[in-house]
Amino acid sequence: KQSEERATKIVLDLEKLYESSNEELGYVARYARAIQQQRGDYNGRILSIRADDMRALAIMYDKSPSEFTDRLAELGVLVPDPRAFFAGS
Ligand code: C2E
Ligand code: C2E
Ligand code: C2E
Repeated sequence: KQSEERATKIVLDLEKLYESSNEELGYVARYARAIQQQRGDYNGRILSIRADDMRALAIMYDKSPSEFTDRLAELGVLVPDPRAFFAGS
């Protein structure tokens, strides 16, 4: 179970998400802003999302959680590896 959690940890690229003009991402951007508020996490360029919240969001898009994750990856708003993200920039 531990390795499954690591493999499926979803991390959003907030710059790409908030700069995107794609209407498809509207709910995701609003949800991310709400989570930032709840955590008081305002300065991050990336945001780790709960698996439970991904499931709830997927329902809004009429997709399974894995289909929804794939779609976010396709749209380029996921960070595959947060540590590599910082090493490369
Ligand atoms: P809470 O759910 O009672 O969590 C209290 C604190 O426990 C959080 O404070 C955080 O420090 C820690 N915590 C809980 N679950 C996790 C986790 O899966 N990973 C990590 N790293 N820490 C965890 P924090 O971050 O200040 O959040 C305050 C409250 O805001 C949370 O209380 C929760 O009600 C809400 N919240 C924050 N982030 C999320 C989120 O991603 N999704 C949802 N549904 N609620 C969130
Ligand atoms: P990680 O989860 O792979 O995250 C790597 C880096 O991505 C973090 O470095 C942080 O700069 C950024 N990051 C990831 N998720 C978020 C997010 O939701 N908001 C923001 N603002 N930044 C995020 P950092 O903080 O130096 O943490 C290094 C590692 O330490 C993390 O790797 C994680 O394994 C662990 N860690 C840090 N804070 C927590 C925590 O609250 N709970 C748990 N369980 N682990 C933590
Ligand atoms: P998860 O619930 O799927 O959360 C994935 C990641 O989202 C967490 O990785 C953390 O980076 C972020 N996150 C989720 N909820 C919060 C929150 O309330 N506040 C903050 N600041 N960040 C949050 P992390 O920390 O490595 O945790 C991995 C998994 O371990 C979580 O997956 C969850 O299943 C469990 N976990 C960690 N801490 C707690 C906790 O305090 N309470 C509970 N019930 N589960 C926790």
